[in-house]
Amino acid sequence: MRVKCVICDQIESIEDESVEAKRLRNRPIHTYMCKECSNRISEKTKARIETGNFRFYRARSDEEDW
Ligand SMILES: [Zn+2]
Repeated sequence: MRVKCVICDQIESIEDESVEAKRLRNRPIHTYMCKECSNRISEKTKARIETGNFRFYRARSDEEDW
């Protein structure tokens, strides 16, 4: 099946029987991200965690301490 990356609009074709294809068919809301974009995003997320800018998680754990 053909899928379009939600970030860079690149059209890719994936195996009809792949997990990704099944997920997209079951949940039309689920958006596809090509490998390049998902790599880029996970790297960004990792970098953000390393620099400690993930306030959301910090606030959460602070609340739990109370
Ligand atoms: Zn992409």
